[in-house]
Amino acid sequence: MAELWPGLGGPKISYISPPPPEAWRRVWPRAIAILGSTGSIGRNALAVIEKHAEKFKVVGLSCAGNVEHLAGQAACFRPPCLAVLDGAVAQKLKNLLPSGYAPRILEGPEGYAELASLPQADVVLSAQSGWTGLSGTLAAALAGKVICLANKESIVLAGDLVREICRRTQAVILPVDSEHNAIFQCLAGRGQEAAYLVLTASGGPFFGKSREELATVTAEQAMHHPTWRMGAKISIDSATLMNKSLEIAEAFHLYGVSSSRIRVLIHPQSIVHSLVEFDDGSLLAQMSAPDMRTALANCLLWPICESSGAPLLDLTRAGQLTFHKADTEAFPALTLARLALSGRGGLSVVMSAANEAAVELFLQGHVSFTDILRLVEAAMQAHSEAHADSPGKPFCPPLTAAGLPELREEVHTLQARITRLDRHSRRMVYQSAKGDTCK
Ligand code: MG
Repeated sequence: MAELWPGLGGPKISYISPPPPEAWRRVWPRAIAILGSTGSIGRNALAVIEKHAEKFKVVGLSCAGNVEHLAGQAACFRPPCLAVLDGAVAQKLKNLLPSGYAPRILEGPEGYAELASLPQADVVLSAQSGWTGLSGTLAAALAGKVICLANKESIVLAGDLVREICRRTQAVILPVDSEHNAIFQCLAGRGQEAAYLVLTASGGPFFGKSREELATVTAEQAMHHPTWRMGAKISIDSATLMNKSLEIAEAFHLYGVSSSRIRVLIHPQSIVHSLVEFDDGSLLAQMSAPDMRTALANCLLWPICESSGAPLLDLTRAGQLTFHKADTEAFPALTLARLALSGRGGLSVVMSAANEAAVELFLQGHVSFTDILRLVEAAMQAHSEAHADSPGKPFCPPLTAAGLPELREEVHTLQARITRLDRHSRRMVYQSAKGDTCK
């Protein structure tokens, strides 16, 4: 299987994790636990699983608040474990489950972490939204799981840490994010000949608008993505292009390449999901209909390639495919990831956390669309000034623990440090937004 892997430890590509062991490939049905099963990724994953029912056994499902939907999924797939936000949600869920079915119901962050490391799970799909996905990804990595990773924030916040854990526990990362999955497919066995990774971006609903025009757009307009149907946070991130900024950081950590070897191309049709430029000038692209089931099937069934259930792409009907340079004047988000990655001193955490807080304020109607990035930039600036004496110091130093219990302890300490910076960055955004409205 190593021959299909995108390149390990090489000078051109140094992928974040080793490939899964040979024995894992032969285990069918695959037992799967899903963190965030009621969101758009979770639902699409269950559609792929249902299509290949003989190949999967669902052993865990979880949600944050959509308990009715979780109850429906649980009644259908009958996993022995479920995880929810707290005791009140757990009680509500119990009342909704069919008689004769009594799964274990886990609660809170510890519950999600336990679901992520269930001994019987062969695969964990990390699909929670935003920074809440971090603890599940870390728990699965510490348990040495094969992780289908849809939560990009886990990598943006703690890419170095996830890489270190994978090295120690042999945990595996399969990238679900469509761009990174496209690159993963293009790089199969050819990592060390790759010159550039080219991420495509649809440009979002406001492609072509000037900075002035963007100042007055509404949340409803921003939520209306032209090619993808997604959750609220990622829809706004796509409209500001912050999603692409986070994806630059994600590619940086997943593939171990410098940000100068990651390019962005605006491609409004969302047919080409990303490309790799090789040393000989060849450009390999992965193309498919904009439907997350393709990337999910690639990861969930890896290395087998079978129908995902997504509509097939008919290039004779796809129309013209166009590619444009990104407008960093109107959409400054793209420059922020490169800035964040140049320091490694926690700026990625500040960028991601400040963005989540600013998006929340925008969705609540407290700030304007262009305020989102202004607030993120201000938080990053404040952090850089406060840490001007240690710009190159890595936020997560290499792990030193010898055994697994000590490793868990060390990871929890680093996770707590990330969480503190995350909360501090959010507070900075709330305070400066409040200051603006008071003026
Ligand atoms: Mg993506």
